[in-house]
Amino acid sequence: MTDCIFCKIIAGEIPSVTVYEDDKVKAFLDISQATPGHTLVVPKKHVADLFEYDEQLASDVFSRLPKIARAVKASDPTIKGLNIVNNNGEVAYQTVFHSHIHLLPRYSNEDGFG
Ligand code: ADP
Repeated sequence: MTDCIFCKIIAGEIPSVTVYEDDKVKAFLDISQATPGHTLVVPKKHVADLFEYDEQLASDVFSRLPKIARAVKASDPTIKGLNIVNNNGEVAYQTVFHSHIHLLPRYSNEDGFG
């Protein structure tokens, strides 16, 4: 989709910091880091939201989350946990309509992100 910012990131037309990439998904740092290491996992196939997934795409994306989560956690020994967030639809606060999974690293309670 020519107008989609995440399709442009996948195509390399807009810069991003890649965390993980294969033939099905790309994971890159969110431009607005809610917690340090905040990562977005996106299917390379353009779908707007979860409602457009078929079983194959669900498998392609969700089966990779543990591996990508481990890579994020391994990047920083101070990461103690991680939240997964997935907004679907404007009323659910989705603002970019290329489906994406937020991985939000969590730290100790003392660092302001706990
Ligand atoms: P929300 O903005 O409420 O988090 P989404 O779940 O749709 O809604 O998240 C879109 C995310 O995409 C935001 O966290 C935003 O910071 C991120 N984003 C927007 N443009 C870029 C970009 N060029 N590179 C990386 N992340 C981006």
